[in-house]
Amino acid sequence: MRACPFDAIRMMDLPRLSSTDDISLKKGRGKAVIDFNKCTLCGACIDPCKFKAILLEKETKEAPTAHLKEYKGIWVFIEQKKGKVQSVSYELLGKARELAGKLSTQVSGVLIGNDLDDQLDELIWHGADNIYLVEAPELANFQDESYANVMIQLVRKYKPEIVLCGATSIGRSLISRVAITVNAGLTADCTGLDIDPQRKILLQTRPAFGGNIMATIISPNYRPQMATVRHKVMPIMPADKSRKGKVIREKFDASVYTSRAKLIEIVDEIETLVNLSEADIIVSGGRGMGGPENFKILEELAHVLGGAVGASRAAVDSGWIPYSHQVGQTGRTVAPKLYIACGISGQIQHLVGMQSSKVILAINKDPDAPIFKVATYGIVGNIFEVIPALTKKFKETLKR
Ligand code: FAD
Repeated sequence: MRACPFDAIRMMDLPRLSSTDDISLKKGRGKAVIDFNKCTLCGACIDPCKFKAILLEKETKEAPTAHLKEYKGIWVFIEQKKGKVQSVSYELLGKARELAGKLSTQVSGVLIGNDLDDQLDELIWHGADNIYLVEAPELANFQDESYANVMIQLVRKYKPEIVLCGATSIGRSLISRVAITVNAGLTADCTGLDIDPQRKILLQTRPAFGGNIMATIISPNYRPQMATVRHKVMPIMPADKSRKGKVIREKFDASVYTSRAKLIEIVDEIETLVNLSEADIIVSGGRGMGGPENFKILEELAHVLGGAVGASRAAVDSGWIPYSHQVGQTGRTVAPKLYIACGISGQIQHLVGMQSSKVILAINKDPDAPIFKVATYGIVGNIFEVIPALTKKFKETLKR
């Protein structure tokens, strides 16, 4: 029972025996049963069971692999909102270029929408060799069904080896539909991508088990190899205006562009007001802030520096600041030029959301706090003394 991480094993309740019953009957009366509503078939119970009573038979279907060679090139789904390409797509183009170098192949962007000609050069300058462009008035705004139909048609026609997509709300809802229809695997929420030098397949790394381990996942038998990647994890490749690329315009039957859902209105997310993902400087507060009223000193510092206020989950769960400020595994991934962590211990679930920041300044009264392991600079001290002093100094220096 202890071996099961999902609490799926229980001892079966049997009628109690009286003291006069034969002692041998008591032996082995408890029987373990597995609750298949909870069991994930992870196999963690098999080795610890000293009676060898648990057996897991896995049905392995050998996928035919001969056709895999037909798949060539790395694709990036280019996310656009209101006709403007989103920065996550530029990040992915840069990464795709690096991977393409290792595979000696080309990078293509897939751009779906309407009236997007003004975005094409930038995509080529940032790493695309080809752009598959599908335009129609019905495709002006993202709709998961019609966009997925278009992607599926393109994937079937051109057979890319790898398809990358931002782990954004658009990317997530699009690419899962595509993966299931083309019978490909999908690794969601990757924070690292590389190529296996021997097998020339995609290594897709993402946090697993609550962020306690980094798992590298491969998809050797199916194509394309598909992954969504977190925003702000990969750096954008500088624009090279001498780069040339090819634009391949595609049109499909009108039925491909239809969607059962009707778009009524686009309402900007409240989160964009906080604008954490775009901020160059973030001042974040954790449980050490002690209460909602103390976030005022963080706001003052952020204001002087022209930055935004972030938070750990502990602060959000305490109701001190709204969820839209949360940084970490279940919040935003950020990579500002400067991240100031105030009263945050530095648990792995927080670190995965901010450790790509260029400079990290940690302020904590505990010199052994794990945040200091990732910090560029550390101040061991009381935040209520250090932060106002920093704000005062920055005000004087920056004349704000
Ligand atoms: P604590 O760990 O309690 O640390 C508070 C720190 O403040 C301590 O280091 C203390 O020394 C310091 N301190 C206290 N008073 C002062 C003072 N006056 N001056 C200076 N320092 C002081 N967490 C996230 O942040 N983001 C996530 O997205 C996230 N997702 C999660 C997902 C899962 C599945 C799980 C299980 C957990 C997740 N967590 C997440 C929670 C995470 O594990 C930690 O519990 C959380 O990050 C702790 O927040 P904290 O560092 O603010 O609090």
